Amino acid sequence: MPHQTFDIVIVGGGLIGMSLAAALAHSPYTILLIEQNNAAPLHANLLDLRTTGLTRSSEKVLTEAGLWSAMRTHATPIERLDISEQGNFGGARIDAKQHQLAPIGYMMPNDKLTAVLSHQVAQQDNLTLLSPASLQALSQHAQGYQLTVEMAGEEHTITTQLLVGADGARSKVRALLDISYHTKDYQQTAIISNVRPQYGHNNIAYERFTAHGPLAILPVQDDHCALIWTQPSAASQVYLDMDDAQFLQALQKAFGYRLGVLQDVGQRSAYPLALTVSHSLVEGNAVLIGNAAQSVHPVAAQGFNLGLRDVQTLVNLLKQAQHNDFAALLHNYQQTRQQDRDHVIKLTDDLTRLFAPQQGPIKAMRSLGLRMIANLPVAQRSVLRRNFGLRYL
Ligand SMILES: Cc1cc2nc3c(=O)[nH]c(=O)nc-3n(C[C@H](O)[C@H](O)[C@H](O)COP(=O)(O)OP(=O)(O)OC[C@H]3O[C@@H](n4cnc5c(N)ncnc54)[C@H](O)[C@@H]3O)c2cc1C
Repeated sequence: MPHQTFDIVIVGGGLIGMSLAAALAHSPYTILLIEQNNAAPLHANLLDLRTTGLTRSSEKVLTEAGLWSAMRTHATPIERLDISEQGNFGGARIDAKQHQLAPIGYMMPNDKLTAVLSHQVAQQDNLTLLSPASLQALSQHAQGYQLTVEMAGEEHTITTQLLVGADGARSKVRALLDISYHTKDYQQTAIISNVRPQYGHNNIAYERFTAHGPLAILPVQDDHCALIWTQPSAASQVYLDMDDAQFLQALQKAFGYRLGVLQDVGQRSAYPLALTVSHSLVEGNAVLIGNAAQSVHPVAAQGFNLGLRDVQTLVNLLKQAQHNDFAALLHNYQQTRQQDRDHVIKLTDDLTRLFAPQQGPIKAMRSLGLRMIANLPVAQRSVLRRNFGLRYL
């Protein structure tokens, strides 16, 4: 590729990088998207077995970006929440209809999310996709950045006015810009799979606190459910090494019989969990979004939803930008995003402690909280506001 210049270069074609690229489809900007994995379409991500919980505010963002109509056929609505605690009779149920918020949100398989986004990106006139290609180096110049990108063993030079780091928790853009960050290893691992229960899920999302860690069984299409079971990392290998029958038995014991007998379990995969927070979102004409800006614990299904709000803010500011004055725009971006990201980082960090295997006062507090949620509509509304994006609608 000869030396080329773009208005915007996005490094990272994960869910957030692709969402930003797709949301800028009808903008006047020329865009380059660089992804280090093979992407034709971005099929490396199709191996992602996860299912993402989408909030209603994300539905709104995706609708505004013209993406929701292609996604909605793959989205399973969540109509009710069932929150329970192992060894504690009862639990709380929150019905979306009672709060005029039906559905509460959606479950969307990551491979479908990726497929819709990569289809959109592949069709865009104003976008060039470079993949598999990876950012190696960058230097600042008066109007932006000069990037060195490696592709098929060759180095290419690219210049851009605006650089977007959407390259995940271990962001190379962040490292090259020398933006500091902190990280906290939760010593927890999420085990992900699919299960087929005896009874239909009826669009109920189950969240259960077990002796080993929080366990969620979430509705997806065809009456299969997505499983996400967070374990202390030291114990997680035991669950990964079990054969299917042993795993189902352990899961059934922890989850109980709310969905009858858990009959089949799919392939299992493991995600070690950590919090990573960049200390600044902006440096010169560069900005970090999505996991490159903040990577949070999945306990409240917030990471992608939060990253989409990064995308929404950046797209809105870019639409209003005058004469590509990106420095002023990014100053505005950093200020606009601060409160939301601080809130979600704190919320997920607090919930991680509350939902970890507990004894003593924290367990008692959690049980009391569950009873309040079960009995008080105002507490139910608060859960919906804090955890399901109602506050952003
Ligand atoms: C178990 C689990 C369950 C989750 N469930 C939910 C949920 O229900 N709801 C929710 O909202 N969120 C959820 N999340 C969080 C969500 O998955 C992430 O927040 C989201 O995927 C982040 O996307 P991203 O594009 O910012 O980062 P990434 O997915 O990390 O993508 C970064 C991309 O950048 C590329 N890249 C990296 N370096 C370079 C380079 N030098 N050059 C070129 N390309 C590069 C990578 O190959 C990658 O494709 C969950 C997370 C986990 C771990």
